[in-house]
Amino acid sequence: MLKVVHSTAKENQFLVSPISYSIFMTPRRRPALPTLTCPKCLQEGVLQGIIYGMPGDDFDFEMYAVGGCLIEENQPDLRCRDCGWSGLRVFLDD
Ligand SMILES: [Zn+2]
Repeated sequence: MLKVVHSTAKENQFLVSPISYSIFMTPRRRPALPTLTCPKCLQEGVLQGIIYGMPGDDFDFEMYAVGGCLIEENQPDLRCRDCGWSGLRVFLDD
C-alpha cells in the first residue's frame, strides 16, 4: 500500500515539471517568413510563426503567435495576424 502511494507522487512530480516545455521556448528565426503570402486573405508579410509553450521575456510578439502549451501532431505552425487563418507551413513552401 505504501509503495503505491509513493509511486503516484513521483508521477505527479514529473507531470508538473516545467523542463519538458523548455525546448519550445526558443523561437527560431526564419527570414523567409515575411515574404510568405496568406492563402486566405492573400496578403504578404502578415503570417506569424506559432510557438508552442510558454513565451520567454525576449519573445518576439511581432514575429510569432503563442499557440499554447499543448503539443500535438499536425498542429498549425503559421497564423495570419490579419484574417486569423492558421495552417501548416509545409503546404506553403512549394
Ligand atoms: Zn490572412
